[in-house]
Amino acid sequence: MNAQFEELIARLGEIADFNNAAGVLSWDQQTYMPPGAIRARAQQLTTLRRTAHERFTSDEIGQLLDDLEPQVAELEPGSYEASLIRVTRRDYDRQRKLSADLVARLTRTTALAREAWERARKASDFALFLPHLDEILDLSVEIAEALGYEDRIYDALLDRFEPGLKTARIEALFAEMKAGLVPLGQAIAGQQGRADDTFLHQDFPVDRQWDFGLEVITRLGFDFEHGRQDRSAHPFTTSFTPADVRLTTRLSPGNFKSALFGSIHEAGHGMYNQGIPMDLARTPLARGASLGVHESQSRMWENIVGRSRGFWTFWLPRLREYFPSQLEGVTVDAFYRAVNRVEPSLIRVEADEVTYNLHIFVRFEIENLMLERKVRLSDLPELWKTKMEEYLGVWPADDADGVLQDVHWSSGMLGYFPTYSLGNILSAQFYDQAVSEIPDIPAQIEKGEFGSLLGWMRTNIHARGAKYTPAELVELVTGGPIRTEPFLDYARSKYAEIYGL
Ligand code: ZN
Repeated sequence: MNAQFEELIARLGEIADFNNAAGVLSWDQQTYMPPGAIRARAQQLTTLRRTAHERFTSDEIGQLLDDLEPQVAELEPGSYEASLIRVTRRDYDRQRKLSADLVARLTRTTALAREAWERARKASDFALFLPHLDEILDLSVEIAEALGYEDRIYDALLDRFEPGLKTARIEALFAEMKAGLVPLGQAIAGQQGRADDTFLHQDFPVDRQWDFGLEVITRLGFDFEHGRQDRSAHPFTTSFTPADVRLTTRLSPGNFKSALFGSIHEAGHGMYNQGIPMDLARTPLARGASLGVHESQSRMWENIVGRSRGFWTFWLPRLREYFPSQLEGVTVDAFYRAVNRVEPSLIRVEADEVTYNLHIFVRFEIENLMLERKVRLSDLPELWKTKMEEYLGVWPADDADGVLQDVHWSSGMLGYFPTYSLGNILSAQFYDQAVSEIPDIPAQIEKGEFGSLLGWMRTNIHARGAKYTPAELVELVTGGPIRTEPFLDYARSKYAEIYGL
Protein backbone atom coordinates (compact mmCIF):
# COMPACT_ATOMS: atom_id res chain seq x y z
CA MET A 1 0.00 0.00 0.00
CA ASN A 2 1.31 3.41 -0.87
CA ALA A 3 1.53 6.60 1.15
CA GLN A 4 -1.77 8.00 -0.16
CA PHE A 5 -3.62 4.88 0.84
CA GLU A 6 -2.02 5.05 4.29
CA GLU A 7 -3.06 8.70 4.50
CA LEU A 8 -6.68 7.84 3.67
CA ILE A 9 -6.73 5.00 6.21
CA ALA A 10 -5.34 7.30 8.90
CA ARG A 11 -7.96 9.96 8.22
CA LEU A 12 -10.83 7.46 8.10
CA GLY A 13 -9.57 5.96 11.37
CA GLU A 14 -9.76 9.32 13.13
CA ILE A 15 -13.23 9.97 11.76
CA ALA A 16 -14.32 6.54 12.99
CA ASP A 17 -12.94 7.39 16.43
CA PHE A 18 -15.14 10.50 16.59
CA ASN A 19 -18.20 8.50 15.52
CA ASN A 20 -17.44 5.65 17.91
CA ALA A 21 -16.92 8.08 20.80
CA ALA A 22 -20.31 9.58 19.93
CA GLY A 23 -21.66 6.03 19.96
CA VAL A 24 -20.42 5.50 23.52
CA LEU A 25 -22.06 8.73 24.67
CA SER A 26 -25.29 7.83 22.93
CA TRP A 27 -25.29 4.33 24.46
CA ASP A 28 -24.71 5.90 27.88
CA GLN A 29 -27.58 8.32 27.29
CA GLN A 30 -29.96 5.40 26.76
CA THR A 31 -28.72 3.27 29.64
CA TYR A 32 -27.13 5.06 32.62
CA MET A 33 -27.11 8.84 32.07
CA PRO A 34 -29.07 10.82 34.66
CA PRO A 35 -31.98 12.70 33.03
CA GLY A 36 -30.61 16.12 33.99
CA ALA A 37 -27.60 15.66 31.69
CA ILE A 38 -29.65 15.67 28.49
CA ARG A 39 -28.72 19.17 27.23
CA ALA A 40 -25.01 18.81 27.93
CA ARG A 41 -25.00 15.41 26.26
CA ALA A 42 -26.77 16.80 23.18
CA GLN A 43 -24.00 19.41 22.83
CA GLN A 44 -21.27 16.81 23.14
CA LEU A 45 -22.90 14.58 20.56
CA THR A 46 -23.47 17.45 18.15
CA THR A 47 -19.80 18.49 18.37
CA LEU A 48 -18.48 14.97 17.79
CA ARG A 49 -20.86 14.19 14.94
CA ARG A 50 -20.34 17.54 13.23
CA THR A 51 -16.57 17.17 13.46
CA ALA A 52 -16.78 13.67 11.98
CA HIS A 53 -19.06 14.89 9.18
CA GLU A 54 -16.83 17.87 8.34
CA ARG A 55 -13.70 15.74 8.25
CA PHE A 56 -15.32 13.06 6.14
CA THR A 57 -16.77 15.45 3.56
CA SER A 58 -13.53 17.46 3.32
CA ASP A 59 -11.88 18.24 -0.03
CA GLU A 60 -8.83 16.28 1.15
CA ILE A 61 -10.79 13.02 1.34
CA GLY A 62 -12.23 13.75 -2.11
CA GLN A 63 -8.76 14.34 -3.52
CA LEU A 64 -7.41 11.13 -2.01
CA LEU A 65 -10.32 9.16 -3.51
CA ASP A 66 -9.77 10.79 -6.92
CA ASP A 67 -6.09 9.83 -6.81
CA LEU A 68 -6.58 6.31 -5.49
CA GLU A 69 -9.49 5.17 -7.69
CA PRO A 70 -7.38 4.58 -10.82
CA GLN A 71 -4.80 2.75 -8.70
CA VAL A 72 -7.31 0.15 -7.46
CA ALA A 73 -9.23 -0.15 -10.74
CA GLU A 74 -7.45 -3.36 -11.70
CA LEU A 75 -7.79 -5.03 -8.30
CA GLU A 76 -10.29 -7.76 -7.52
CA PRO A 77 -13.52 -5.98 -6.39
CA GLY A 78 -13.64 -7.92 -3.11
CA SER A 79 -10.10 -6.99 -2.14
CA TYR A 80 -9.63 -4.78 0.90
CA GLU A 81 -8.22 -1.87 -1.11
CA ALA A 82 -10.82 -1.90 -3.91
CA SER A 83 -13.74 -2.35 -1.48
CA LEU A 84 -12.53 0.39 0.81
CA ILE A 85 -12.20 2.92 -2.00
CA ARG A 86 -15.54 1.93 -3.57
CA VAL A 87 -17.56 2.07 -0.33
CA THR A 88 -15.86 5.23 0.92
CA ARG A 89 -16.61 6.89 -2.42
CA ARG A 90 -20.27 5.92 -2.18
CA ASP A 91 -20.55 7.33 1.35
CA TYR A 92 -18.56 10.41 0.44
CA ASP A 93 -20.65 11.32 -2.60
CA ARG A 94 -23.85 10.80 -0.66
CA GLN A 95 -22.79 12.96 2.26
CA ARG A 96 -21.37 15.69 0.06
CA LYS A 97 -24.76 16.04 -1.61
CA LEU A 98 -26.34 17.04 1.69
CA SER A 99 -25.44 20.59 2.63
CA ALA A 100 -24.49 21.42 6.22
CA ASP A 101 -27.56 23.66 6.30
CA LEU A 102 -29.88 20.82 5.29
CA VAL A 103 -28.37 18.47 7.87
CA ALA A 104 -28.70 21.13 10.59
CA ARG A 105 -32.35 21.80 9.68
CA LEU A 106 -33.10 18.08 9.81
CA THR A 107 -31.45 17.77 13.24
CA ARG A 108 -33.47 20.71 14.60
CA THR A 109 -36.74 19.59 13.05
CA THR A 110 -36.47 15.99 14.22
CA ALA A 111 -35.53 17.03 17.78
CA LEU A 112 -38.80 18.98 18.03
CA ALA A 113 -40.76 16.35 16.14
CA ARG A 114 -39.61 13.61 18.48
CA GLU A 115 -40.99 15.54 21.47
CA ALA A 116 -44.21 16.31 19.63
CA TRP A 117 -44.60 12.68 18.59
CA GLU A 118 -44.27 11.54 22.21
CA ARG A 119 -46.91 14.03 23.31
CA ALA A 120 -49.20 13.17 20.40
CA ARG A 121 -48.90 9.46 21.03
CA LYS A 122 -49.66 9.89 24.72
CA ALA A 123 -52.72 11.97 23.89
CA SER A 124 -53.53 9.73 20.91
CA ASP A 125 -53.95 12.89 18.86
CA PHE A 126 -52.42 12.89 15.39
CA ALA A 127 -53.17 16.60 14.97
CA LEU A 128 -50.40 17.41 17.49
CA PHE A 129 -47.84 15.63 15.32
CA LEU A 130 -49.20 16.68 11.91
CA PRO A 131 -47.34 20.02 11.47
CA HIS A 132 -44.05 18.32 12.41
CA LEU A 133 -44.63 15.45 10.02
CA ASP A 134 -45.40 18.01 7.34
CA GLU A 135 -41.97 19.61 7.86
CA ILE A 136 -40.23 16.24 7.96
CA LEU A 137 -41.87 15.19 4.72
CA ASP A 138 -40.74 18.43 3.05
CA LEU A 139 -37.20 17.84 4.31
CA SER A 140 -37.27 14.19 3.21
CA VAL A 141 -38.29 15.25 -0.29
CA GLU A 142 -35.50 17.84 -0.26
CA ILE A 143 -33.00 15.17 0.82
CA ALA A 144 -34.21 12.76 -1.84
CA GLU A 145 -33.89 15.44 -4.52
CA ALA A 146 -30.39 16.32 -3.29
CA LEU A 147 -29.31 12.66 -3.30
CA GLY A 148 -30.93 12.12 -6.69
CA TYR A 149 -32.79 9.16 -8.19
CA GLU A 150 -33.67 7.88 -11.62
CA ASP A 151 -37.03 6.25 -11.20
CA ARG A 152 -38.85 6.65 -7.89
CA ILE A 153 -38.29 9.26 -5.20
CA TYR A 154 -38.39 6.45 -2.62
CA ASP A 155 -35.25 4.99 -4.22
CA ALA A 156 -33.11 7.86 -2.93
CA LEU A 157 -34.16 7.33 0.70
CA LEU A 158 -34.12 3.52 0.57
CA ASP A 159 -30.59 3.54 -0.81
CA ARG A 160 -29.29 5.02 2.47
CA PHE A 161 -30.24 1.78 4.24
CA GLU A 162 -30.11 -0.77 1.40
CA PRO A 163 -27.38 0.26 -1.03
CA GLY A 164 -28.30 -0.49 -4.62
CA LEU A 165 -31.79 -1.81 -3.94
CA LYS A 166 -34.66 -0.19 -5.85
CA THR A 167 -38.24 0.44 -4.75
CA ALA A 168 -39.62 -1.55 -7.69
CA ARG A 169 -37.65 -4.59 -6.56
CA ILE A 170 -38.94 -4.24 -2.99
CA GLU A 171 -42.48 -3.96 -4.36
CA ALA A 172 -42.05 -7.19 -6.32
CA LEU A 173 -40.65 -9.03 -3.29
CA PHE A 174 -43.40 -7.71 -1.04
CA ALA A 175 -46.10 -8.69 -3.57
CA GLU A 176 -44.85 -12.30 -3.36
CA MET A 177 -44.76 -12.14 0.42
CA LYS A 178 -48.29 -10.71 0.54
CA ALA A 179 -49.63 -13.41 -1.76
CA GLY A 180 -48.21 -16.04 0.61
CA LEU A 181 -48.75 -14.49 4.02
CA VAL A 182 -52.21 -12.93 3.84
CA PRO A 183 -53.97 -16.28 3.14
CA LEU A 184 -51.75 -18.00 5.71
CA GLY A 185 -52.76 -15.46 8.36
CA GLN A 186 -56.43 -15.88 7.45
CA ALA A 187 -56.24 -19.67 7.62
CA ILE A 188 -54.62 -19.46 11.07
CA ALA A 189 -57.19 -16.96 12.34
CA GLY A 190 -59.83 -19.69 12.38
CA GLN A 191 -57.62 -22.06 14.43
CA GLN A 192 -56.63 -19.97 17.48
CA GLY A 193 -57.19 -22.67 20.11
CA ARG A 194 -54.25 -24.72 18.87
CA ALA A 195 -51.57 -22.42 20.32
CA ASP A 196 -52.35 -21.59 23.92
CA ASP A 197 -49.83 -19.26 25.55
CA THR A 198 -51.64 -18.39 28.79
CA PHE A 199 -48.91 -20.01 30.94
CA LEU A 200 -46.43 -17.46 29.54
CA HIS A 201 -48.45 -14.63 31.06
CA GLN A 202 -47.68 -15.53 34.66
CA ASP A 203 -45.19 -13.77 36.89
CA PHE A 204 -41.61 -14.51 35.80
CA PRO A 205 -39.17 -12.77 38.21
CA VAL A 206 -36.99 -10.45 36.16
CA ASP A 207 -33.64 -11.35 37.75
CA ARG A 208 -34.09 -14.95 36.66
CA GLN A 209 -35.22 -13.86 33.21
CA TRP A 210 -32.01 -11.86 33.02
CA ASP A 211 -29.84 -14.82 34.06
CA PHE A 212 -31.53 -17.24 31.68
CA GLY A 213 -31.22 -14.77 28.79
CA LEU A 214 -27.50 -14.38 29.46
CA GLU A 215 -27.04 -18.14 29.56
CA VAL A 216 -28.81 -18.52 26.21
CA ILE A 217 -26.97 -15.80 24.31
CA THR A 218 -23.62 -16.90 25.72
CA ARG A 219 -24.23 -20.40 24.40
CA LEU A 220 -25.37 -19.01 21.03
CA GLY A 221 -21.95 -17.40 20.77
CA PHE A 222 -22.20 -13.79 21.92
CA ASP A 223 -18.77 -13.00 23.31
CA PHE A 224 -18.85 -11.23 26.68
CA GLU A 225 -15.11 -10.66 26.54
CA HIS A 226 -15.97 -8.21 23.74
CA GLY A 227 -19.45 -7.11 24.69
CA ARG A 228 -22.00 -6.66 27.42
CA GLN A 229 -25.73 -6.46 27.98
CA ASP A 230 -27.57 -3.75 29.90
CA ARG A 231 -31.16 -2.65 30.35
CA SER A 232 -32.87 0.14 28.40
CA ALA A 233 -36.40 1.36 27.71
CA HIS A 234 -36.11 0.38 24.03
CA PRO A 235 -33.82 -2.56 23.20
CA PHE A 236 -31.00 -1.81 20.77
CA THR A 237 -27.49 -2.93 19.83
CA THR A 238 -24.56 -0.66 19.20
CA SER A 239 -20.91 -1.31 18.55
CA PHE A 240 -17.85 0.90 18.94
CA THR A 241 -15.50 -1.56 17.31
CA PRO A 242 -15.88 -5.33 16.74
CA ALA A 243 -14.10 -5.64 20.10
CA ASP A 244 -16.78 -3.76 22.00
CA VAL A 245 -20.42 -4.52 21.24
CA ARG A 246 -23.28 -3.46 23.51
CA LEU A 247 -26.70 -5.09 23.72
CA THR A 248 -29.66 -3.82 25.67
CA THR A 249 -32.83 -5.59 26.71
CA ARG A 250 -36.08 -4.73 28.45
CA LEU A 251 -37.52 -6.89 31.23
CA SER A 252 -40.97 -7.10 32.73
CA PRO A 253 -42.32 -9.83 35.03
CA GLY A 254 -45.47 -10.50 32.99
CA ASN A 255 -43.84 -10.54 29.56
CA PHE A 256 -41.38 -13.40 29.39
CA LYS A 257 -41.43 -13.73 25.60
CA SER A 258 -40.58 -10.12 24.90
CA ALA A 259 -37.41 -10.09 27.05
CA LEU A 260 -35.98 -13.44 25.97
CA PHE A 261 -36.64 -13.13 22.25
CA GLY A 262 -35.61 -9.49 22.42
CA SER A 263 -32.26 -10.53 23.93
CA ILE A 264 -31.73 -13.22 21.31
CA HIS A 265 -32.64 -10.74 18.57
CA GLU A 266 -30.16 -8.14 19.79
CA ALA A 267 -27.49 -10.81 20.31
CA GLY A 268 -28.00 -11.72 16.63
CA HIS A 269 -27.10 -8.14 15.71
CA GLY A 270 -24.28 -8.22 18.23
CA MET A 271 -22.71 -11.42 16.89
CA TYR A 272 -22.70 -9.85 13.40
CA ASN A 273 -20.87 -6.84 14.81
CA GLN A 274 -18.41 -9.04 16.70
CA GLY A 275 -17.79 -11.09 13.55
CA ILE A 276 -16.51 -8.16 11.52
CA PRO A 277 -12.74 -8.64 11.18
CA MET A 278 -10.56 -6.30 13.24
CA ASP A 279 -8.58 -5.35 10.13
CA LEU A 280 -11.72 -3.62 8.80
CA ALA A 281 -12.17 -1.69 12.08
CA ARG A 282 -12.04 2.12 11.94
CA THR A 283 -13.04 2.11 8.24
CA PRO A 284 -16.41 2.44 6.44
CA LEU A 285 -16.23 -1.33 5.83
CA ALA A 286 -16.62 -2.09 9.55
CA ARG A 287 -20.40 -2.45 9.52
CA GLY A 288 -23.07 -4.70 8.07
CA ALA A 289 -23.81 -4.87 4.35
CA SER A 290 -27.13 -3.12 4.98
CA LEU A 291 -29.78 -2.81 7.66
CA GLY A 292 -31.73 -5.63 6.01
CA VAL A 293 -28.73 -7.94 6.08
CA HIS A 294 -28.19 -6.96 9.72
CA GLU A 295 -31.81 -7.78 10.46
CA SER A 296 -31.38 -11.16 8.73
CA GLN A 297 -28.98 -12.15 11.50
CA SER A 298 -31.16 -10.96 14.39
CA ARG A 299 -34.31 -12.51 12.94
CA MET A 300 -32.61 -15.80 12.14
CA TRP A 301 -31.43 -16.30 15.74
CA GLU A 302 -34.66 -14.98 17.21
CA ASN A 303 -37.14 -16.86 15.03
CA ILE A 304 -35.74 -19.60 12.83
CA VAL A 305 -33.44 -20.84 15.60
CA GLY A 306 -35.00 -19.43 18.80
CA ARG A 307 -38.58 -20.37 17.99
CA SER A 308 -37.79 -23.83 16.64
CA ARG A 309 -38.85 -27.08 18.25
CA GLY A 310 -35.25 -28.30 18.33
CA PHE A 311 -34.11 -25.22 20.22
CA TRP A 312 -36.70 -25.79 22.96
CA THR A 313 -36.03 -29.51 23.07
CA PHE A 314 -32.65 -28.47 24.40
CA TRP A 315 -33.56 -25.36 26.41
CA LEU A 316 -36.90 -26.14 28.05
CA PRO A 317 -35.46 -28.53 30.70
CA ARG A 318 -32.95 -25.82 31.61
CA LEU A 319 -35.62 -23.09 31.64
CA ARG A 320 -37.70 -25.25 33.97
CA GLU A 321 -34.88 -25.12 36.52
CA TYR A 322 -35.24 -21.33 36.54
CA PHE A 323 -39.06 -21.34 36.68
CA PRO A 324 -40.22 -24.69 38.09
CA SER A 325 -43.68 -23.64 39.25
CA GLN A 326 -44.55 -21.54 36.19
CA LEU A 327 -43.61 -24.36 33.79
CA GLU A 328 -44.84 -27.35 35.73
CA GLY A 329 -46.29 -29.90 33.32
CA VAL A 330 -45.51 -27.79 30.22
CA THR A 331 -44.23 -30.04 27.41
CA VAL A 332 -41.79 -29.07 24.67
CA ASP A 333 -44.62 -29.25 22.20
CA ALA A 334 -46.87 -26.97 24.25
CA PHE A 335 -44.02 -24.53 24.81
CA TYR A 336 -43.12 -24.53 21.11
CA ARG A 337 -46.71 -23.77 20.15
CA ALA A 338 -46.99 -21.03 22.77
CA VAL A 339 -43.93 -19.10 21.57
CA ASN A 340 -45.20 -19.37 18.00
CA ARG A 341 -48.73 -18.20 18.62
CA VAL A 342 -50.02 -16.15 15.69
CA GLU A 343 -52.45 -13.37 16.38
CA PRO A 344 -53.19 -10.36 14.18
CA SER A 345 -52.59 -7.32 16.37
CA LEU A 346 -52.41 -3.56 16.09
CA ILE A 347 -48.80 -3.11 17.19
CA ARG A 348 -45.88 -3.98 14.92
CA VAL A 349 -43.28 -4.61 17.61
CA GLU A 350 -45.49 -7.22 19.28
CA ALA A 351 -46.34 -9.02 16.04
CA ASP A 352 -45.58 -12.70 15.36
CA GLU A 353 -43.57 -13.98 12.39
CA VAL A 354 -46.57 -14.38 10.08
CA THR A 355 -48.25 -11.02 10.59
CA TYR A 356 -45.11 -8.92 11.21
CA ASN A 357 -44.43 -8.34 7.55
CA LEU A 358 -48.01 -7.21 6.91
CA HIS A 359 -47.36 -4.29 9.27
CA ILE A 360 -44.35 -3.37 7.18
CA PHE A 361 -46.27 -3.42 3.89
CA VAL A 362 -48.78 -0.93 5.33
CA ARG A 363 -45.98 1.49 6.21
CA PHE A 364 -44.08 1.01 2.95
CA GLU A 365 -47.16 1.75 0.83
CA ILE A 366 -48.10 4.78 2.90
CA GLU A 367 -44.55 6.20 2.76
CA ASN A 368 -44.54 5.93 -1.02
CA LEU A 369 -47.88 7.76 -1.23
CA MET A 370 -46.52 10.47 1.09
CA LEU A 371 -43.30 11.02 -0.85
CA GLU A 372 -45.12 11.02 -4.18
CA ARG A 373 -47.60 13.53 -2.70
CA LYS A 374 -50.52 11.26 -3.42
CA VAL A 375 -52.08 11.50 0.03
CA ARG A 376 -52.93 14.46 2.27
CA LEU A 377 -51.19 14.02 5.60
CA SER A 378 -54.38 14.83 7.46
CA ASP A 379 -55.89 11.69 5.85
CA LEU A 380 -53.16 9.37 7.19
CA PRO A 381 -55.02 8.13 10.31
CA GLU A 382 -57.92 6.89 8.17
CA LEU A 383 -55.66 5.47 5.47
CA TRP A 384 -53.72 3.60 8.16
CA LYS A 385 -56.88 2.06 9.56
CA THR A 386 -58.13 1.05 6.12
CA LYS A 387 -54.87 -0.68 5.26
CA MET A 388 -54.67 -2.43 8.64
CA GLU A 389 -58.13 -3.81 8.05
CA GLU A 390 -57.21 -4.89 4.52
CA TYR A 391 -53.99 -6.70 5.54
CA LEU A 392 -54.62 -7.82 9.10
CA GLY A 393 -58.35 -7.62 9.62
CA VAL A 394 -57.92 -5.32 12.61
CA TRP A 395 -59.14 -1.76 13.04
CA PRO A 396 -57.18 0.57 15.38
CA ALA A 397 -59.50 2.30 17.81
CA ASP A 398 -57.22 5.32 18.06
CA ASP A 399 -54.09 6.97 16.62
CA ALA A 400 -51.80 5.81 19.45
CA ASP A 401 -52.34 2.21 18.35
CA GLY A 402 -52.47 3.29 14.71
CA VAL A 403 -50.52 5.84 12.72
CA LEU A 404 -48.64 7.19 15.78
CA GLN A 405 -47.15 3.91 17.05
CA ASP A 406 -43.67 4.08 15.48
CA VAL A 407 -40.90 6.55 16.25
CA HIS A 408 -39.32 6.36 12.76
CA TRP A 409 -41.06 9.24 10.99
CA SER A 410 -40.40 11.64 13.86
CA SER A 411 -36.69 10.81 13.46
CA GLY A 412 -36.81 11.55 9.74
CA MET A 413 -36.29 7.89 8.81
CA LEU A 414 -38.60 7.52 5.85
CA GLY A 415 -37.49 4.59 3.70
CA TYR A 416 -36.36 2.52 6.70
CA PHE A 417 -39.29 0.13 7.24
CA PRO A 418 -38.64 -2.21 4.27
CA THR A 419 -35.35 -3.24 5.90
CA TYR A 420 -37.33 -5.21 8.52
CA SER A 421 -39.12 -7.40 5.97
CA LEU A 422 -36.03 -7.74 3.89
CA GLY A 423 -34.35 -9.05 7.03
CA ASN A 424 -37.02 -11.73 7.38
CA ILE A 425 -36.69 -12.72 3.73
CA LEU A 426 -32.89 -12.95 3.97
CA SER A 427 -32.91 -14.75 7.32
CA ALA A 428 -34.55 -17.79 5.71
CA GLN A 429 -32.48 -17.56 2.54
CA PHE A 430 -29.17 -17.52 4.44
CA TYR A 431 -30.29 -20.20 6.90
CA ASP A 432 -31.38 -22.50 4.03
CA GLN A 433 -28.03 -22.02 2.36
CA ALA A 434 -26.18 -22.81 5.59
CA VAL A 435 -28.20 -26.01 6.07
CA SER A 436 -27.67 -27.05 2.45
CA GLU A 437 -23.92 -26.83 3.09
CA ILE A 438 -24.03 -28.24 6.65
CA PRO A 439 -27.10 -30.54 6.79
CA ASP A 440 -26.41 -31.40 10.43
CA ILE A 441 -27.27 -27.89 11.71
CA PRO A 442 -30.85 -28.65 12.87
CA ALA A 443 -29.62 -31.74 14.75
CA GLN A 444 -26.88 -29.65 16.36
CA ILE A 445 -29.40 -27.02 17.48
CA GLU A 446 -31.38 -29.76 19.19
CA LYS A 447 -28.24 -30.61 21.18
CA GLY A 448 -27.64 -26.99 22.11
CA GLU A 449 -24.73 -26.64 19.70
CA PHE A 450 -24.72 -23.45 17.66
CA GLY A 451 -21.08 -23.16 16.62
CA SER A 452 -21.41 -24.49 13.06
CA LEU A 453 -24.27 -22.15 12.22
CA LEU A 454 -22.48 -19.15 13.70
CA GLY A 455 -19.26 -20.20 11.98
CA TRP A 456 -21.03 -20.34 8.60
CA MET A 457 -22.51 -16.87 9.15
CA ARG A 458 -19.09 -15.57 10.25
CA THR A 459 -17.38 -16.81 7.09
CA ASN A 460 -20.09 -15.97 4.59
CA ILE A 461 -21.69 -12.82 5.98
CA HIS A 462 -19.87 -11.24 8.93
CA ALA A 463 -16.30 -11.47 7.67
CA ARG A 464 -17.21 -9.43 4.59
CA GLY A 465 -18.31 -6.35 6.52
CA ALA A 466 -19.78 -3.75 4.17
CA LYS A 467 -17.71 -4.77 1.14
CA TYR A 468 -20.76 -5.80 -0.89
CA THR A 469 -24.27 -4.47 -1.49
CA PRO A 470 -27.09 -6.71 -0.24
CA ALA A 471 -27.81 -8.07 -3.74
CA GLU A 472 -24.10 -8.74 -4.38
CA LEU A 473 -23.73 -10.49 -1.04
CA VAL A 474 -26.76 -12.72 -1.63
CA GLU A 475 -25.45 -13.61 -5.09
CA LEU A 476 -22.04 -14.42 -3.66
CA VAL A 477 -23.40 -16.50 -0.77
CA THR A 478 -26.33 -18.30 -2.42
CA GLY A 479 -25.44 -18.10 -6.12
CA GLY A 480 -28.67 -16.29 -7.00
CA PRO A 481 -30.84 -13.23 -6.40
CA ILE A 482 -32.81 -12.29 -3.27
CA ARG A 483 -35.73 -14.74 -3.09
CA THR A 484 -38.87 -14.93 -0.99
CA GLU A 485 -39.47 -18.69 -1.44
CA PRO A 486 -37.24 -19.80 1.45
CA PHE A 487 -39.11 -17.57 3.90
CA LEU A 488 -42.55 -18.47 2.53
CA ASP A 489 -41.75 -22.21 2.51
CA TYR A 490 -40.46 -21.94 6.07
CA ALA A 491 -43.55 -20.04 7.27
CA ARG A 492 -46.06 -22.25 5.44
CA SER A 493 -44.65 -25.57 6.61
CA LYS A 494 -44.02 -24.44 10.18
CA TYR A 495 -47.46 -22.93 10.73
CA ALA A 496 -49.36 -25.58 8.76
CA GLU A 497 -47.98 -28.09 11.22
CA ILE A 498 -48.65 -26.00 14.34
CA TYR A 499 -52.18 -25.02 13.30
CA GLY A 500 -53.13 -28.22 11.48
CA LEU A 501 -53.85 -26.44 8.21
ZN1 ZN B 1 -33.24 -5.68 14.73
